[in-house]
Amino acid sequence: MKSGKLSVYVLIIALVSVFAACSSTKKAGSTPKLQAVDETTLMSHLQYLSSDEFKGRLVGSPESEKAQEFLIQQLQSFGVKPLLAAYRQPFTMNRRNDTVNKINANNVIGLIPGKKYKDKYIVLSAHYDHIGERNGLIFNGTDDNASGTSALIQFAKYFQKNQPDHNIVIAFFDAEESGLRGARHFVANLPVAKEQIILNVNMDMISRDDNNDLYACGTFQHPFLKTYIDPVIAIAPISIKYGYDDPSNGGRNDWTSLSDQGAFKQVGIPFIYFGVEDHADYHKATDTFEKVKKEFYVGAVRSILSFVQLFDKTFKPTNS
Ligand SMILES: [Zn+2]
Repeated sequence: MKSGKLSVYVLIIALVSVFAACSSTKKAGSTPKLQAVDETTLMSHLQYLSSDEFKGRLVGSPESEKAQEFLIQQLQSFGVKPLLAAYRQPFTMNRRNDTVNKINANNVIGLIPGKKYKDKYIVLSAHYDHIGERNGLIFNGTDDNASGTSALIQFAKYFQKNQPDHNIVIAFFDAEESGLRGARHFVANLPVAKEQIILNVNMDMISRDDNNDLYACGTFQHPFLKTYIDPVIAIAPISIKYGYDDPSNGGRNDWTSLSDQGAFKQVGIPFIYFGVEDHADYHKATDTFEKVKKEFYVGAVRSILSFVQLFDKTFKPTNS
């Protein structure tokens, strides 16, 4: 009798375990997968774009042109086609304190066609320019923003290999440091109706933080995005926080217009910005490769890619 009862218990426990296993499998299927990135290439691009060879990637400089060539070469190597007639989207602008002489600036923009929503676009962006040289010192701009630029190269590679449902625009913007000029030029000259752009994901300064916090900024304006960020926060190898997007906090506590996402925000295109709090090396010659926290940076890149992948696969645009 005793042993008989025991085997019933064993059977019940076994059945419960099977159910538990089934339901946990189901649950795992609905959570996003943390995407992998090629860490070695990511870090070597970060180091290369941060090197003295680029002299701080000043808009209109020969080194800026060299950076454009590098970015175009990367897009070509993956098979990513240009969005426009060519990879470069040229525009002219004045430097600060010089209203006479125009300089030539260039965004570098690629397109990865979507397979499901052919008239909808997600714009992934990062500015590749920085502030050049001052007082004989090179401002390498590693965190600001070789970090977002190198991440965007990896995103281009990923989505070219894993075709997205929506069209994905890879936008390396120029002249962010001169007042979001590249992003503003892009937004003012869209090749499609602005309603067709369902989201801008902008990355600017993502490779280090004293508290290891990455901020996702813009859910105050677009709370629907939490549906796609919350599941990533749950699996992210780093801490991701919401914030710095409430306009009532004002000034430098509202980041929504402080980088290129501001150009999209201004015309009513949904946006999300990923970045860190200002650090001691912000806009200093000491924003260099040695200061990068590799584990944090790789974690940030994997998390943002996972978010974009989840959004692309699960967001269903209306009127499509
Ligand atoms: Zn920046």
